Amino acid sequence: MLKVGVFGVGHLGKYHLNNWKEIPEVTLIGFFDPNNEHAHEVEATYGLKRYMDEEALIAACDIIDVVTPTHLHFPVCEMAIKMGKNVFVEKPMANTIEEGKTIVNMVKEANVKLQVGHVERFNPAYTALKDLELNPLFIEVHRLAQFNPRGTEVSVIFDLMIHDIDIILSIVKSDVKTISASGVAVLTDTPDIANVRIEFNNGCVANLTSSRISMKKMRKIRLFQKDAYIGIDFLEKNTEIIKLQQPGDNDAFAFDIETHQGTKTISITNPVIEQGNAIKAELSSFVHSIMNDETPIVNEMDGYLAMEVAHQILEKISKSTSKVSQTLAQDDSPREDLNTD
Ligand code: NAD
Repeated sequence: MLKVGVFGVGHLGKYHLNNWKEIPEVTLIGFFDPNNEHAHEVEATYGLKRYMDEEALIAACDIIDVVTPTHLHFPVCEMAIKMGKNVFVEKPMANTIEEGKTIVNMVKEANVKLQVGHVERFNPAYTALKDLELNPLFIEVHRLAQFNPRGTEVSVIFDLMIHDIDIILSIVKSDVKTISASGVAVLTDTPDIANVRIEFNNGCVANLTSSRISMKKMRKIRLFQKDAYIGIDFLEKNTEIIKLQQPGDNDAFAFDIETHQGTKTISITNPVIEQGNAIKAELSSFVHSIMNDETPIVNEMDGYLAMEVAHQILEKISKSTSKVSQTLAQDDSPREDLNTD
């Protein structure tokens, strides 16, 4: 039995508690949260021990689950890793690049396992594609959410887009070549909506739009590759594959189209989506990697690489924003030279 301690029992922390309880290989030891209201609710609902001493909780556990606000991921991870414990940390792995690098190095030195909560990797709409070879040339991504003050202590890039950055980095087997980005801070001090273009060395281009000020929700990735279009709806949990049928394929729905290159057969398939809970799947997968001494599916390096791209995006946005304000300032002069008659 692996012993688990949870840091942070706010909105997501409670989902984690519910899911840890359903994993037979673990036992919940206790939690740490300075918020009395959250702590009392958890004590009453889950009958779980509240620790007032962080180190005592860490010492009593094999796995520390970090579900605190983002700026506290690093100090809790640092404490747990230094005490030789395995860590599950919510996304983004840390706040700064330095913190991210330090976590990567500490995990290696302490020889512990760390998984980052990039939960979409366990979304059944995505895992349904595990047998399909993904080799996209173009990727279109939309992640739109209604405004919710929770999570807005970080930009929409770290709050929402980081999920898609991680998915794209896990699909495209190539390094990032260039990034261009623009974003606008509408309701908070950091970008609430952003559009980003990432070009990879292998020629693949990803176009990502994220917004946390939308009227409706959407979480979709569309992949275009030489012989197929793949649509993944993370929210509705369905996946569609439209592809050129190959000899021997036996797809249920197929039709012919005439092209200048002759008749082509197109098939449309919807892989079976297993009903499942992605949070339970990611936590179970982490437990499995510890018990079998395997690398976690979303390890510290994946967490770091997603952070690195997210930071580059933010830098581009801040440069493009200051360029726009400079141009606006320059353009403030009256247009005397224009004939407006
Ligand atoms: P929240 O504000 O609802 O909860 C955070 C909790 O941490 C609060 O109860 C707070 O009192 C507690 N806390 C503060 N300081 C602490 C400390 N030093 N030690 C222990 N606990 C402390 O926030 P949330 O929405 O639950 O988000 C928590 C984390 O989860 C964030 O990093 C966020 O990015 C991440 N998150 C991930 C997803 C996802 O899809 N994977 C979704 C939502 C949130």
